[in-house]
Order: sequence, then structure tokens, then C-alpha cells
Amino acid sequence: MAAGERVVVVGAGVAGLTTAVVLAEAGVSVHVIAEEVPGVTSLAAGAMWGPYLVEPKDKVDQWGQRSLEIFRELAEDPSSGVRLTSGIEASRTAETPPDWATTLPGFRPCERAELPVGFSAGYRFTVPLIDMPTYLGYLLRRLDAAGGTVERRRLASLADTGPATVIVNCTGLGAKDLLPDPDLRPIRGQHVVVSNPGLTEFFSEDTGLSPDLLCFYPHGDTVVLGGTAIDGEGGLAPDDKAAVGILARCAEVEPRLASASVLAHRIGARPTRATVRVEADRREDGAVVVHNYGHGGAGVTLSWGCAEELTVLDLL
Ligand SMILES: Cc1cc2nc3c(=O)[nH]c(=O)nc-3n(C[C@H](O)[C@H](O)[C@H](O)COP(=O)(O)OP(=O)(O)OC[C@H]3O[C@@H](n4cnc5c(N)ncnc54)[C@H](O)[C@@H]3O)c2cc1C
Repeated sequence: MAAGERVVVVGAGVAGLTTAVVLAEAGVSVHVIAEEVPGVTSLAAGAMWGPYLVEPKDKVDQWGQRSLEIFRELAEDPSSGVRLTSGIEASRTAETPPDWATTLPGFRPCERAELPVGFSAGYRFTVPLIDMPTYLGYLLRRLDAAGGTVERRRLASLADTGPATVIVNCTGLGAKDLLPDPDLRPIRGQHVVVSNPGLTEFFSEDTGLSPDLLCFYPHGDTVVLGGTAIDGEGGLAPDDKAAVGILARCAEVEPRLASASVLAHRIGARPTRATVRVEADRREDGAVVVHNYGHGGAGVTLSWGCAEELTVLDLL
């Protein structure tokens, strides 16, 4: 994409803001339009680098590795909200490690004594954890510094963006009605945020496709506890029963969490489809629309890889 082009990015979640930063820092004039700034789904993420509920594997691996490189660099800047954190992913059934984790620094199988009761295998590694409210604020500041602008507005159609050489569609689950895209579906997730009773390591259970997840991610003064994955549900009201279950599962593994003060509930719907959609589309009126949505449970993990791929597409 040539410098001097005007691009409208629709969406201010992690996909839209990362795309806007990449374009603005490359010299492109970028204007973001979004109903929510920042996007509610992105605010709800835990977030840990690692693929979950997302396809296709070969592209996911490629986008994920590129994002990993950048998150490692960002971890050197405390204002980014990114921290390299050591911890354990464990399983009650599986014996093989998650393939995406085996090349991470510090990767090794756990000793039996390191595992909580009931777990049969586990792996220790160091991975980026991303404190999403802080990180999305960091992206907004970086976009502003690169000359990008942001407008809070709901679009009924992508034709309502105003003049643009290229429109980048980063509307997440919003694309279901906006395009429309019948392949998109929500997978609802819930997190409980508590005060940090002294945790410095993450824990995550490999639960496969279970709706009841178990993970906790320390972010300085707070810990994000998870979680749930309810296929087909997109409602964002907190579910008290789910929150009680999350707290109980996490406290069973880490008893210090039992008495931690609850600070917030974060709910989002993972924008899930058979494959992530990253592609350009020339409309009948000649406008170019580039899509970057459908990242399921891995939108943070893939954000930099997908955004950079857009800048090398032959768009004009
Ligand atoms: C509980 C939970 C935990 C998660 N944990 C992780 C994790 O650990 N690691 C990870 O990588 N990922 C995780 N994810 C997944 C990740 O959060 C999503 O894949 C990602 O946030 C999607 O980002 P997005 O920018 O595409 O969508 P969103 O954040 O939903 O942003 C969409 C944007 O588009 C705007 N928009 C939509 N429609 C319109 C319209 N018509 N007009 C104007 N604006 C519009 C919205 O207002 C918003 O600004 C998790 C998700 C959940 C729910």
C-alpha cells in the first residue's frame, strides 16, 4: 500500500487497532470508525498468547509466530501491559504437550510434584500475558502518535464510512450482520477479575472443547480468572453461576485465590468461523474492502501477523 492513501478501518478491537497502528506507522492516513472504543470482546480477553478455537492451522502458526516476536519486544515497555510470564499448562487426560508451546522459552515437562491434584501431565513455559485494558489504551496512544484518528459511530453498512481508498473491515462478530456473514458465530466467554494475592505465575488447563475452562493470569495488582466457552451464545450479561464456578475451579488449584476480592466481571463473545478471514474484496462500485475478522479465541495472539499481512496485499 502506498504512503498517502486514505484508509478507513472499521472496528477498534485488537484487530482494528493493531491494523490501524501498522498502517499509520507505515505513513498511510488512517481513520478508525467504531461503535465501541475499545472493542468489548478484546477488553474481555485474558489474555495469553496461544491459539484457541481458531483455524486454519498453517496460517494461524505463521500469524501467531510473528505476533509472538512483537509481543516479546513490547514486554520490554511496561506501559504496554505485556509481560513475559512463566507458568504451567496442565491436563487431567492428555499426555502430549500443546505443539504451539514446545518451542517457547523454558519449555519442559513438569515434575509430578509441580502438578495440582487430579492432573496427569503438565508443561512449564514462558509466554506473553497481555493486560487488555492497558494494552488497548497503549495501542490507541500509539495510533494517535502516528497521526491516526478515531471516530465513535455505529455503521449500518460499510458504504457509510465516507470517502476512503480502502476500507478495512475489523468488526469481529459485528461482521455477522454488517456484511452479512452467516458463517460467524459467537462463543461466549466470561472472566472474573480479582485483586492479586501474590501470584506471579499463570496456570491454564488444557480442557479441549469443554465449556468450563480453568486458567488464571496475573497482571501485576490483578489476576484474571477464567473461564467459559459457550458455543452459540453471544449475550453479554454476567452469569453469577458461571462466576461462582470459575472462582471455585481456580481456588481448587491455587487456594490463595479463594479469599481474593472480586473487582470485575468481563464477558465477551469470541468471533468464530471455520477460518479466519484475511482477504481483499473489490466491490461492484470499485471500492476495495479488506477483511480481517473471525479470530475466534485467538484474536490477540494473531493480531500483529494478520495486520502485517494486510499491508502487503495488492490493494489498489
Ligand atoms: C473470555 C475471552 C477470553 C479470551 N482470551 C483470549 C486469549 O487469552 N488470547 C487471545 O489471543 N484471544 C483471546 N480471546 C479472543 C479475542 O478476545 C478475540 O479474538 C478478539 O478480541 C477479537 O478482536 P476483534 O478486534 O476482531 O473484535 P472486537 O474486540 O469485538 O472489536 C470489534 C470492533 O468492531 C466494532 N464494530 C462492530 N460492528 C460495528 C458496526 N456495525 N459499526 C461500527 N463498529 C462496529 C466494535 O464496536 C468494536 O470496536 C478471548 C475472548 C474472550 C471472549
